[in-house]
Amino acid sequence: MSSHFPFTAIDTTLFPTDYAAGRQRWLAQLAQLSGHQRHLPYPCAGVGPTGEALITDTVWLGPEQAAKVLVVIAGTHGIEGFAGSAIETDMLGLLAQGHITIPDHTAVLMIHALTPWGYAWQRRCDAYGVDLNRNVVDFAQPLPANAGYEQLRPALFLSDVRQRQAAFADFISQHGREAFESAISAGQYTDPVGPFYGGRAPAHGRLVAEALIDHYALHQRDLAVVDLHTGLGPFGYGEIICDHDPDSAGAAVASRWYGGSVTLPLLGTSTSVPKIGLLDFAWHRIMNARSCYVTLEFGTYRTLELFEVLLQDHLLWAQPDQSQARTAHRPVMRQHFCPDDVAWRQMVLVRARQVLVQALHGL
Ligand SMILES: [Zn+2]
Repeated sequence: MSSHFPFTAIDTTLFPTDYAAGRQRWLAQLAQLSGHQRHLPYPCAGVGPTGEALITDTVWLGPEQAAKVLVVIAGTHGIEGFAGSAIETDMLGLLAQGHITIPDHTAVLMIHALTPWGYAWQRRCDAYGVDLNRNVVDFAQPLPANAGYEQLRPALFLSDVRQRQAAFADFISQHGREAFESAISAGQYTDPVGPFYGGRAPAHGRLVAEALIDHYALHQRDLAVVDLHTGLGPFGYGEIICDHDPDSAGAAVASRWYGGSVTLPLLGTSTSVPKIGLLDFAWHRIMNARSCYVTLEFGTYRTLELFEVLLQDHLLWAQPDQSQARTAHRPVMRQHFCPDDVAWRQMVLVRARQVLVQALHGL
């Protein structure tokens, strides 16, 4: 084993109270770092609940000409940025204190709040209801169909939870559990108020990712991308999900770097089912055979609870004059995607250190 795990104190106060506080702490920690850095902020349309500006902050740490780059992405799904901010701020602190050093010929590109609107409003999607992680499709082509979603759609927003659950149980007994999860969450392009909606045009976060790829000529470098997520899988466990094709170089690289804990939705070994339009795909197409993209997904509560919490959120945003109810639902969203639980937060920070160090050493 050549990897050194940084054994220093875990600080769960790094989990912010809101987007603005998370951003401020991230910027303050960044200011503590010496060495070459380039901060590139990407403003996003709209404002947060208290009128705050919405910005995706990015920073390049290390030599401009680095042949290898660790890319850390937080807040692909807005509200999941709470954990993303904590993990990135923790890593900036470890770098500032010298507990982690960036190897030679290597740089770190950190992306904070890739969907800042969703982070600020404590939603998973952007201001248009778009799930960035279903948005990377070719909008010039006919959009993918999801027949299961259309079949379940009439049941999704039933106000009677028991009726909805009965419809779900029916679907599961007919088609199986995986088909059910795919129907709801694989992605859909027909229902802008529904969950897991991929949109009609490239979203802010996709445009930022593509701009960064261009700006830093990332197609010419070896890449380790770690995209930080929460809300799916066993409580506190950080699953390394690899959406590369199982026979691809990317999948081989992932298992070499991260070992036996890598799971592949296409092999059925992941808590995630295969999905349409993942952000991964914007990077897969520019990656060489020494690179890979993984999602580090921290589990919280059961998948059925995830669907309930999200459906309630989408229902409130589909109706007019619900601003009080929406505000009241924010802590429910927050609890699902960033549990108020010290042990969960410790597990997240410890595991993230482990995986980010594996990525640096893998490169
Ligand atoms: Zn996510």
